[in-house]
Amino acid sequence: MRRHFICFHPLEREILLRNGIGMERLKLEGNMRLSFSGERECIGYRGEEAHFECPNRAINTKQCSTCSFRDISRIYTVGDFSNYPHIEDELEKETYCVYLAGFGEDIVKCGITRKERLKERFLEQGADFGCCLMEMKGPAEVYGIEKRMQLNFGFANAVFMKQKTARLEFEHGKGRENFEKAVKKVRETGVFGEFLCEGEVIELEEKYPKVRRAEESDNIFGEVLGNKGALLFWKGEEGKEYFTNMKNKEGRFIE
Ligand SMILES: [Zn+2]
Repeated sequence: MRRHFICFHPLEREILLRNGIGMERLKLEGNMRLSFSGERECIGYRGEEAHFECPNRAINTKQCSTCSFRDISRIYTVGDFSNYPHIEDELEKETYCVYLAGFGEDIVKCGITRKERLKERFLEQGADFGCCLMEMKGPAEVYGIEKRMQLNFGFANAVFMKQKTARLEFEHGKGRENFEKAVKKVRETGVFGEFLCEGEVIELEEKYPKVRRAEESDNIFGEVLGNKGALLFWKGEEGKEYFTNMKNKEGRFIE
């Protein structure tokens, strides 16, 4: 039975697979030998309690537009509650954060998350620095503020994988300084002042394995060292270090 790679969970460092009977989790640790198909099929969509198969059996895509529209993650990424209206009431009670996340020496992204997920959110993305800028009750205003912050301050909305892999090694001091500057700039302007909070700059570097001159590999043949967001690090038999972009493997089959 071919196993369909549905998604990678960076916090648990495990793969969720569909194996023909149901879902299966595969923890990435120790010595692993995994290769992935070139072809991909739609991963389906995640509902409140379960994962569902693609109704279109779409091929050559990670997630088709039907599944993307139905996926519960839309609630959190774009604030679209149309498929899950009852969840909106639940989220009214939650505290939300507008945060900055720093990548390498130079990239500063502005994003939002529920407060209880703040640190996990930094780790999921493989950020090097993080800081909570604002807090507010409920999701009503947070999406608009995020957009305005990105436009007004030039913060990134998303950081591409190739930007992250180009910054696996960087000058830490420079990165920290640049990130602190960005935080200070927002606080000094007093923008959205009623929501501003005094969150400290969090360093995340120690959470990731240290690698030197790691090269990209599509397959995993060696000892797993850890991960930085969706980048899995591993060491080959010859002692060389590699990284594999696990996001890019979603929708493929494990061979
Ligand atoms: Zn689909």
